[in-house]
Amino acid sequence: MLVVMRHDASEDEVQGVVDTIHELGYEACPIPGKQRTAIGLIGNDGKVPADRIEALPGVMQVIHVSQPYKQVSREWSPEPTIVELANGTRIGAGEVVVMAGPCSVESEAQILGIAHRLRDAGATILRGGAFKPRTSPYSFQGMGEEGLKLLARAREETGMAIVTEAIDPESLALVAKYADIIQIGARNMQNFSLLRHAGRSGKPVLLKRGMSATITEFLMSAEYILAEGNRQVILCERGVRSFDTQTRNLLDLTAIPVVQSLSHLPIIADPSHGTGVRAKVIPMARAAVAAGADGLMVEVHPDPERAMSDGAQSLYPDQFGEMMQQIGTIAEAIGRTISPSLAAAR
Ligand code: PEP
Ligand code: MN
Repeated sequence: MLVVMRHDASEDEVQGVVDTIHELGYEACPIPGKQRTAIGLIGNDGKVPADRIEALPGVMQVIHVSQPYKQVSREWSPEPTIVELANGTRIGAGEVVVMAGPCSVESEAQILGIAHRLRDAGATILRGGAFKPRTSPYSFQGMGEEGLKLLARAREETGMAIVTEAIDPESLALVAKYADIIQIGARNMQNFSLLRHAGRSGKPVLLKRGMSATITEFLMSAEYILAEGNRQVILCERGVRSFDTQTRNLLDLTAIPVVQSLSHLPIIADPSHGTGVRAKVIPMARAAVAAGADGLMVEVHPDPERAMSDGAQSLYPDQFGEMMQQIGTIAEAIGRTISPSLAAAR
């Protein structure tokens, strides 16, 4: 339930509503807006005396949020959420933000070398897994904390922000220490205890859609993070399972406008995992920008043939440069721009 205050409501009147909600045994979450303040009532068990709240001074309206996800919904917050990072990158502010890097951090030379090339081509966020959720226990599992230290080094050298995956509470604590954004991967989208940990981390979270998750399930998972008091969530469409074996997954670009109509959270697309095939990545990156994505996550490797994971879908660095040019043109056509390059700022 959302209590919308009149635009001229005083601080005391807002406090009066908060106090009443507490007295009734629920949690209150004030949401200041440009026009007016709203107060979310959390924990509605269907027994809230809405009439009593509606009659309080300064209250304009009580809205019953119809969606099963509450804080994630547009009804809860009509204004878009903008996730702002220390290097100035703003996700959800209208600019197309590009996150790029190898699937896995493999060595110092690999990650530092590629980070410079990606930064110079216009990426503002560096990706790279240090903890890898692999289908086989015998596949490369990631460099662990050593990999996180290399990512931090790359940030120091390039000014890029860092996004990297956490796969359990232990790795999440480490990732939160080093990274700017904690990635929760497709395989963990419904790991509810991990989502709660991410919600308490105090760091922005990139939540990837599970490979068989409906959009409602995806948004319910985001709700777990917001329910812990963390609104800084970026959603990521990364493809779903389909009957066709031509591509690794089916990149569901419809999810972009659908999520944008249902939620205030930013949504980006990952055409690398979404297709699994290098030649399909750039076309789908272009399509995602055209569909209105707030950003892209793309895998790029200096030597894809020798990559320790996901080489077949990793772009060559030169291809990444071409992709940046092309999406710039598409962004312009729909009245958007690519997030300002850090290279230009130096
Ligand atoms: C990744 O980003 O490398 C990854 C494992 O992605 P996903 O969770 O989407 O499979
Ligand atoms: Mn990968």
